[in-house]
Amino acid sequence: MHQNQQTMKKLKKITVAKGDGIGPEIMDATLKILKAAGARIEWEEIEIGEQVYLSGHSSGISPEAWEALRRNRVFLKGPITTPQGSGYKSLNVTLRKTLGLYANVRPCKSFHPFVHTRHPQMDVVIIRENEEDLYAGIEHQQTDEVVQCLKLITRPGCERIVRYAFEYARLYKRKRVSCFVKDNIMKLTDGLFHRVFKEIAAEYPDLASDSWIVDIGAARLSDTPEIFDVVVTPNLYGDVISDITAQISGSVGLAGSANIGEGFAMFEAIHGSAPDIAGRNIANPSGLLRAACMMLNHIGQQDVAETVKNAWSCAIEEGIHTADIYKEGFSSQLVGTAEFADAVIERLGRKPEKLQVSEYAREVKLDIAAYQRRKPALKVLKGVDVFVDWKGTNPDELADRLTRLNRDVRLTMITNRGVKVWPQGFAETFCTDHWRCRFEVANGHPAEQQSIPGILADAINEGLDVIKTENLYEFDGIKGFSLGQGQ
Ligand code: NAD
Repeated sequence: MHQNQQTMKKLKKITVAKGDGIGPEIMDATLKILKAAGARIEWEEIEIGEQVYLSGHSSGISPEAWEALRRNRVFLKGPITTPQGSGYKSLNVTLRKTLGLYANVRPCKSFHPFVHTRHPQMDVVIIRENEEDLYAGIEHQQTDEVVQCLKLITRPGCERIVRYAFEYARLYKRKRVSCFVKDNIMKLTDGLFHRVFKEIAAEYPDLASDSWIVDIGAARLSDTPEIFDVVVTPNLYGDVISDITAQISGSVGLAGSANIGEGFAMFEAIHGSAPDIAGRNIANPSGLLRAACMMLNHIGQQDVAETVKNAWSCAIEEGIHTADIYKEGFSSQLVGTAEFADAVIERLGRKPEKLQVSEYAREVKLDIAAYQRRKPALKVLKGVDVFVDWKGTNPDELADRLTRLNRDVRLTMITNRGVKVWPQGFAETFCTDHWRCRFEVANGHPAEQQSIPGILADAINEGLDVIKTENLYEFDGIKGFSLGQGQ
């Protein structure tokens, strides 16, 4: 076989989308560096983002582009602009969920003393659950005054991301995994994430582990990030804290991220399309370039990833900086996007003198054990929450009407925005038009399934506007529902 053909055969085909705003500038810079560094890749370009949205695809992606993603399975993506308006779905969320990219990995490290930061020691990796939580995108308006968003947390989702975090920590020789949750308030949803974290931590005695309530955890992370190593957290908290960590390391323009699933992987900068600086050759391409290095690692081209990373570190430590990180006393030369790329290319083959030299282990793969469903718990129906749209103000009046519906399950409580207002509520509690009316069995027996449609039908006959019902279950004798605040 001809030499050229042999090389061609080894090329890994990836999908590339330049995206919107600064996307094309930073992608051109990144691809130029990868090519010069000898990355054994070829790419198929797809168009996604603003123009695709505006041409009538409400998710910002065409069916042909999906086909390319399915063919190539590895995706290097520029940032995109989601047009304003409720008719447009977030392409990022759609990609993550459709391709099963459950783990979002965002390393944030400071490059002290070459990039200005108040946190010279920080070197933290945020591992964010990427598919569930409030990002399930299930929202409803239920009354004139109330909308809701469902927060879905699943045991398979928790197990997979927590295992991923511990495996990642072991593979990359990290020492500690910290869990960020808010289970003092969300005892069932965040409580499950925390419980799974503790179960899985016990399987990794070689790694330290701890748990933080997300508010104080985030405060410490932004004040003393050096005390954290790997942080694993549900979707929304991860979204917020990973931007904070990237910003305090020097610039949002510095951090890349990997979105990893079983069959697909997507790599992107953590920042958006920065329309305020688009088309001016001033954006920092480092976030996308560092994401591309994560991609090279993922496809087994650790040698090229090292070459690129080391050349990048040389440029940074020599003070060759784009405007976002340029600072008197730290920087020697202010450069544009394209010039920064050329500076990296000139340094290919060199190793940094002060910043850490990048060396990646070869042939490493994160093996996450497949989820094993447990023996189902004994699930017993104990009652029902009936949600009612009612414009009255005195809960006693509502209770009078609802007690007429009593059967084997009886009205035990009415709450408004989770606060108990009947029996014995406070007249001062502010109430909306959205009432949760709890019916429970009195005798400890299971509730009859037929009671629920029965109550619903009787409530409608009573002239009540029922928005929805939510069954109340015990699982192996443990309540699977929250209590009203104020009980
Ligand atoms: P942004 O991240 O685009 O910009 C925030 C600030 O950081 C701006 O001042 C910008 O100039 C600066 N900045 C961002 N990247 C930079 C870089 N590489 N170099 C130098 N400075 C940089 O956030 P935004 O303004 O809130 O969002 C703009 C658009 O991007 C929105 O449409 C948003 O929906 C979208 N967005 C896309 C993604 C993605 O595609 N992954 C992520 C976040 C936001």
